[in-house]
Amino acid sequence: MKIETDKPLTYPFALAPLPFAYDALEPYIDAATMRIHHDKHHQAYITSLNAAIKPHPELHDFSIEELLLERHSELPITIRQTVHDQGGGHLHHQLFWKILKPGTAGTRPTGALAQAIDRDFGSFDAFKAKFVETGAKHFASGWVFLVVNPADGGLEVLSRPDHDSALLEKNTALLINDLWEHAYYLKYQSGRVNYLKAFCSVVNWEYVGQRLESVLDSRVRPGPATKKISHSVR
Ligand code: MN
Repeated sequence: MKIETDKPLTYPFALAPLPFAYDALEPYIDAATMRIHHDKHHQAYITSLNAAIKPHPELHDFSIEELLLERHSELPITIRQTVHDQGGGHLHHQLFWKILKPGTAGTRPTGALAQAIDRDFGSFDAFKAKFVETGAKHFASGWVFLVVNPADGGLEVLSRPDHDSALLEKNTALLINDLWEHAYYLKYQSGRVNYLKAFCSVVNWEYVGQRLESVLDSRVRPGPATKKISHSVR
């Protein structure tokens, strides 16, 4: 199942509206946090990213994924770190809002996702415990991920600092949660573990399942043939 068919978005990057009301995730994530997180923090990443890209018209047709991954080593050295930090912030939050959904408390994965979680973690509860534990143990800011290991197709939980992205590293992130204090401090203060547990009640498991199906489809389907450069022996 292909889930993102829209033309890739390019400069100037823009903040998409939150797909639900700011208070829709109460009591798990509070309205004040959602408003500041989406309108201020995510917007700030986009504003800084656009400012870095603006003087470089040759970069204006690249998607955020191209700027962060395929083209990153070709970027001018003066903006490379800024694009990594601010662009990573933009990419992560874009996915984060899609993963959140009101009214999902008590729901659980179904189909291929449920089977893969049972296979690789033993049970859904064991997976949630691992996801919460990994997020709680992560030092300082960062993100916790459920990813598909590209080598064997198995599911793994891991964390990365700041906006250093496993999403980009492996390109197969199914589920992410924000470990920056701005994501939870107003309501949970130093209780990160309580925030991580509450997060499990606002996950759109159907969407996470669609992401797994998309990854599995792309693993089975061979990619486009790549042209090989032939080296003739002289
Ligand atoms: Mn954030």
